Amino acid sequence: MVDCGCDEGLELAVLEELPGRLEMRACMKCGALGLSEAIVEEPEPHDVQFIGYEPIEISKAVAAWVGGWPRLTSLDRERVLVGRDVRVVDREGLQAMIGAQERGWNRTRLIELGVPDGPPPAELPAALSGFAEIWRGLSLNDATPIEELMGEAMRGGGPNRLAREVLSRRGDLAALSTQWRASREDKFRNWGRYLAKEFRLS
Ligand SMILES: [Zn+2]
Repeated sequence: MVDCGCDEGLELAVLEELPGRLEMRACMKCGALGLSEAIVEEPEPHDVQFIGYEPIEISKAVAAWVGGWPRLTSLDRERVLVGRDVRVVDREGLQAMIGAQERGWNRTRLIELGVPDGPPPAELPAALSGFAEIWRGLSLNDATPIEELMGEAMRGGGPNRLAREVLSRRGDLAALSTQWRASREDKFRNWGRYLAKEFRLS
């Protein structure tokens, strides 16, 4: 929820879905940002009722850094990134704008749309640590050691997609998978199974 007074239907998430009930959203009309937590009640098991949003204050430095990332939405179940400076005036304009965007969430698209100029501010709240991890993930490349790529790719959240993207460019995944699956160490066998499954290697 963004407390800017514009139509709430003009809000998009920023960069990535946050864990739990946290939402980092941006108004596509005025550009304002808002971090909030959805408050729910569960009077009976499995009967979760939405009560409202509790805003969480963020510093100017945090807002400036977080606001430097593209916005995130989806279309036909595909993720769509939108440039941070894009503005619309109404819901119709928002839908048309989203429809005109290239689809996909990947490094090339992030760089193309623009990312923050520098590292995250020290006071970045823990709730937004995934953003800092994605920042770090942007530096993964073909020269990154395979052990580091595997560690990042297999971790939940953060830069796993960026690590997978680098892995997908390698020509030796089938050989690595076979070699690792024959290992005595659990860690390597897990890595081998992960590669086989993720990249559909037989
Ligand atoms: Zn607004």
